[in-house]
Formats: sequence, C-alpha cells, structure tokens
Amino acid sequence: MNSSLLVNKATNTQSAIRLPVIGANWKLHKDLAETESFFEKFRSLVDDFGYCEVVICPPFLDIATAVSAAEQTTIHIGAQNLYWENDGAFTGEVSGKMIKASGCSHVIVGHSERRRYFGETDETVLKKLVAALEAGLTPIVCIGESERKNVESVLEKQFRCGIAPLSAEQFAKLIIAYEPIWAIGAGKTATPAIAAAAHRLIRGHVTKRLGAQAANQVRIIYGGSVKPDNAQSLMAQEEIDGFLVGGASLDAVSFAALVNLCKSEEKSESRINQSCNYV
Ligand code: PEP
Repeated sequence: MNSSLLVNKATNTQSAIRLPVIGANWKLHKDLAETESFFEKFRSLVDDFGYCEVVICPPFLDIATAVSAAEQTTIHIGAQNLYWENDGAFTGEVSGKMIKASGCSHVIVGHSERRRYFGETDETVLKKLVAALEAGLTPIVCIGESERKNVESVLEKQFRCGIAPLSAEQFAKLIIAYEPIWAIGAGKTATPAIAAAAHRLIRGHVTKRLGAQAANQVRIIYGGSVKPDNAQSLMAQEEIDGFLVGGASLDAVSFAALVNLCKSEEKSESRINQSCNYV
C-alpha cells in the first residue's frame, strides 16, 4: 500500500501518511557477481525493510540475479527504462511486459540521462508511463530543471505534457522523482528548503489537475547527490517522501544507511501525531 488515509476530526479533511520510497538507480554499473555481493552485504545491514519501500533498479542484465537475491524480503526490483510497445521489430528495446515477467515491480521513466543522451521527451515519457502502467509496473517518473532558473516553468511543462494527461486511476499508481539535473552526480545537493519548495510546486500541480486527495497521496521523492550525511535534513521535510539515489546506492553500506534512516526518521511519527484517525 502506498499511503494510508487519515481523517482530521477537527477539520474533517483527509490527509495521507505516505510510505517513504528509497530507490537505487544503479545506471550502467555492476555485473552479476557485483550484484550478488551487493545484495549479500545489503541484506545483512538492514534488519527491517518495512519502514519504507526499497526499490533497487539494476541494469537489465542483472535483474534476474537481483530478483533472486531479493527473495524472502520486501525489496522491490525495478528496471531503469522500458519501451512502450509490448513486442515487435524494435531492436534493442525491452517492453514493460518483459520487465514485469522478469520479476520487476517498478520502472524508472524519463530519467534526465535518458532525456539528455537518448532523446526522450515529455511525449515519449507519457507513452512509457502508460505502457508501464498497462504492464502492471509502478513507474518512478523523473522531472527536474537543468539549471537553477525557470524552475517553475520547466516543472510545469514536464508535468503538463508528461504526466497530467494520465487518468486519476493511472496517476494513483505513480511515484514522482524530483531530480534537479544540476544536483545529479554533482555532489551538489538541493538544500532541504529548495527541494521542499519544488516538491510543493509539483504537489500544487497535482492538486490543480486531480484534486487534494491525489496530491496528498502521491509520493514525491528527491534525487540529486543524496548521501547518508545529507539525507536526514532532506527527509525531515514534510514534502519529501524518500529518495532516488544514484552514486550512494552502489555501496551497500551507504544505501543501507539511507534505508535505515527511515526507521529512525521522526517524520512518520509527526505525521501520525496529527490527532487523526485512520479510515
Ligand atoms: C540519479 O541519477 O537519479 C541520481 C540521483 O544520481 P546521484 O545520486 O548520483 O546524484
């Protein structure tokens, strides 16, 4: 379950506790042996995966190994990309149907490196989202500005063209990753205030398009040079529902530290302590 609905008795409004997502985007890293040894170490460093949704996205060729290494745990395996057709003469492509059949539950869509190096656009992102949802996968759709200017207009356009055409039912299954490109792999993290402001902006677009309940429920995670030493202050922001992690996810110790942060994280407590009751 992605989130639990709460009713605030005083205002009779609904809000949501959103289960944090901690995602690993391995990009073009790790072979089969490295995948196996990552999982062996990572599993030994986390004693409870229940505090967040852990999603590890290795390269395609490592997926089968990752799926079996994650057996008997709640670790989810995801792909980093998909094609929008199910099958056909599309050399080199992999479909959502194939990804699902390989044991994945998630797929990253529209990562900035796909947009920058492989010509992906908001239009292809939308096609991929629809294909992922039709295949029964949970898409983690990435949006974010390349420079620290025009943030509002870039996010508005990416949302409007790449995400907003989805139906409410389709949208309910998405995870949105806000990834400012200037912070990816750069060692330059957005400050908690900058990240939270962008997340609020995105949530505002969701409210306008699909209403307050959809906005309350959607997980919006942050990506861009997240590491154990900067994660806590980001995670403390009410708006930030987890992370998509590149570099720091390659090391079992640092990725485990990010997952374990969810256990000690006080936000979930503070969210629960809103004098609300579950419905
Ligand atoms: C990413 O590529 O999604 C990412 C966030 O990378 P990094 O953590 O290395 O900045």
